[in-house]
Amino acid sequence: MKAPKTAAVAATGAWTDPDGYRMPSGEVHAWTPGTNQTLCGLSIHRSELRRFSHVEWVDVQPATGRDADQVSDVCRRCAAAMGGRRDERPWKRTDPRP
Ligand SMILES: [Zn+2]
Repeated sequence: MKAPKTAAVAATGAWTDPDGYRMPSGEVHAWTPGTNQTLCGLSIHRSELRRFSHVEWVDVQPATGRDADQVSDVCRRCAAAMGGRRDERPWKRTDPRP
């Protein structure tokens, strides 16, 4: 099975940061927007998870993420599915031509 390079986040809780953004709290799972389940196979609906399509998986890793303030747990199966690489950023092409 091929793991996606990036994923959004589904979590058991939510809070609003000082800038007014809804952020995940509690246990976080990796989730691909447009699907109904997390990478580890939980049903978003049945597990009553909240979806954060604007938050990237890498940003909720407690060791390195900037949006992990309220994250208490990271799903290990989702982390394994994502390859456990925390510091790898998606490569972006910068094209200086007009
Ligand atoms: Zn999970």
